[in-house]
Amino acid sequence: MIYLKNYINGELVEPYAGQYLENIDPSRGTVFSMIPDSDANDVQKAVEAAEAAEEAWANLHYEKRAAYIEAIAKGIEARMDEFVAAESLDNGKPLSLARRVDIPRAVSNFRFFATAIQQQSTETHFMEGLGVNYTLRRPIGVVACISPWNLPLYLFSWKIAPALATGNCVIAKPSEITPYTSYLLSEVCKEIGLPKGVLNIIHGLGPKVGDALSRHQKIKAISFTGGTATGRTIASIAAPMFKKLSLELGGKNPNIIFADCNFEKMIKTTVRSSFENQGQICLCGSRIFVERSIYDKFKTEFVERVNALSIGDPRTDVNVGAIVSQAHYNKILSYINLAKEEGGRIISGGEAYIPEGDCKEGYFIKPTVIEGLAYNCRTNMEEIFGPVVTLTPFDTEKEVLMYANATEYGLATSIWTENLSRAHRMAEKVESGIIWINCWLLRDLRTPFGGMKNSGVGREGGWEALRFFTEAKNVCIAY
Ligand code: NAD
Repeated sequence: MIYLKNYINGELVEPYAGQYLENIDPSRGTVFSMIPDSDANDVQKAVEAAEAAEEAWANLHYEKRAAYIEAIAKGIEARMDEFVAAESLDNGKPLSLARRVDIPRAVSNFRFFATAIQQQSTETHFMEGLGVNYTLRRPIGVVACISPWNLPLYLFSWKIAPALATGNCVIAKPSEITPYTSYLLSEVCKEIGLPKGVLNIIHGLGPKVGDALSRHQKIKAISFTGGTATGRTIASIAAPMFKKLSLELGGKNPNIIFADCNFEKMIKTTVRSSFENQGQICLCGSRIFVERSIYDKFKTEFVERVNALSIGDPRTDVNVGAIVSQAHYNKILSYINLAKEEGGRIISGGEAYIPEGDCKEGYFIKPTVIEGLAYNCRTNMEEIFGPVVTLTPFDTEKEVLMYANATEYGLATSIWTENLSRAHRMAEKVESGIIWINCWLLRDLRTPFGGMKNSGVGREGGWEALRFFTEAKNVCIAY
């Protein structure tokens, strides 16, 4: 049995209370490791270590900070196979997906911000004949990064890298459901000799460790990715303490398909945007709106391709792996039942899948396609975050905009059309922080990333992240 440890003050240490939680391989339903059940005492130790490291790290020349961050990227690359296997085991995602997306992207995140910090500049504002202002950007101090289970190291590093690059000391908490690759990251940080206290990684439950981070007086900013309800809880604690907050929350993303689209490109991408990572990507399009004139053609071809997806042991060559946990598996199945109660017709999947052999106790759900639901029923309003999509026909641009904007969320939208004017018109009106036209998940790390409405507050990515993790001071000099 693997016992994971916290990473505090440059050392791998046991949790203060000596308690551990079980960590489950969702493809087999068995415990494969134990993780620290940390509490406020562990957070306190990490904050003390971070405070002790703060001044030296903030004042280290940016090229030296960048070199440490680049060394982390190289350290992950050097252990690529181990990281890939750990991510797949912990999360249930196909090994091929972890190899193609998760771990290379974590490497890119560190590399991107190691470079970005070397290109950062600040503004000056000139007052004719009077003087000049310049903007000084300084690190905030000790900051917290809290991340979810769906893209474990990918999202964890997306926060940690800019926080470190800008000179902050970090207390990071991975999801208790997928802690393994963040533990491997702490080994890499030790190997490359990252100065002690600069990054601290604490494992454990949200209501214990996450709550202690939200409440700690010395933590000045929180970058959080996770569910909307958790974001609300964190904001209710941290906002009255005037902490800086970046909240990346849930979604219920529309995928809008016009009859004039490039059909082959659209359908291929739509299968991916519906079911990649078992539909557990915050950017997956779960509400598919199709212009009525191609609805039947779309439905037939889509269902055919969905039925052809292979599902099973994530270590083999499959398209769809296991759902991340039993609780989440039960939640998804309950939404499939709700869809039936609401009058939905299941036209593909709609039930659990039980593989032969080794994985028969795992948490698998067949990719599910449902039609016949009202645009505003619960199935179409609430985030399911699994391999479940609904199909709804529409007749006009106005109608589909109303459907698309009907939820409380506003994270991502895909629009499929070859009509340039319509694409721009829709992009302006659709309520989403991220809009993809004729593509999905085409990511440029320099662009602003985040959601509107209940999908979040603030933006990550590129300069946005460097700005979030710094305090801007205006320095005004009169002649
Ligand atoms: P979650 O909110 O349950 O947990 C996220 C993290 O918050 C975990 O580390 C958890 O331990 C911690 N946490 C839980 N309760 C806490 C509390 N009271 N105080 C502080 N921290 C607490 O989310 P999840 O189930 O891990 O992830 C799925 C959700 O994440 C979905 O809603 C999905 O849409 C969202 N998500 C959003 C984005 C985005 O970029 N907007 C990206 C990925 C996932």
